[in-house]
Amino acid sequence: MKSDIELIDSNGKRLDGRGPEDLRPIKIEAGVLHRADGSCYLEWGGNKVLVAVYGPREAIPRHSQNPLRAIVNAKYNMAAFSVEDRKRPGPDRRSREISKVISEALEKVILTEQFPRAAIDVNIEVLDAEAGTRCAGLTAAGVALADAGIPMTDIPVSCAAGKIDGHVVADLGKEEDNFGDADLPVAISPRTDEVILLQMDGHLTLDEFNKAFDLAVNGCHVVSEIQKKAILDKYQSASEAE
Ligand code: ADP
Repeated sequence: MKSDIELIDSNGKRLDGRGPEDLRPIKIEAGVLHRADGSCYLEWGGNKVLVAVYGPREAIPRHSQNPLRAIVNAKYNMAAFSVEDRKRPGPDRRSREISKVISEALEKVILTEQFPRAAIDVNIEVLDAEAGTRCAGLTAAGVALADAGIPMTDIPVSCAAGKIDGHVVADLGKEEDNFGDADLPVAISPRTDEVILLQMDGHLTLDEFNKAFDLAVNGCHVVSEIQKKAILDKYQSASEAE
């Protein structure tokens, strides 16, 4: 959708004062829920996301079991109060799609073959939504899985980039997502840069795509450091309490 508002000015400043490569502020806390095996609370700009991980445990019903590996069930849910006009509660096409792509991304880093016939449930609850919730959800899921002690090759991380008023920028905010030209959410395994999720909404030329992809990957590395700090903080405070 095109808007009359200018999303980026002639100095490259965006509506919220960010430069093209800047991310919105991010806060991550690991281990916030006592009954879950692992959990994470994350704020990213105006997004607020809570993730709870359960498992690995025996997959039920039994016909859902895979004899060779664990199944990963990520369930993305947006709270009715998370958006301006109350959202109809329950799953819809969009949340099913996001759950599927996040499950597939997480399966690429979790050592599922260590847990045949098991299930790992990753519940992603979006409490406040302001664009980029799938990236926020996947990033929080990575921390919650690490908090649960689930063996992984790496902590998965996600960040988007996109195009607004013809400029390629990192991490679109709400107006930028609504009125921008394209959005490119990316998730990677940051040690190897293997891409585990890549989606695109809107149109980009090949040059713009390459630029947006690089910005998103750079963003992933920035977020990855915040993830690692959140996990370290949790274990430091746990060892101090002993
Ligand atoms: P993402 O949140 O990963 O960017 P989308 O591009 O589908 O996913 O959504 C962009 C934003 O649009 C969301 O973050 C949210 O702020 C808003 N949005 C999504 N679904 C709804 C809905 N059903 N009602 C109102 N706003 C919504």
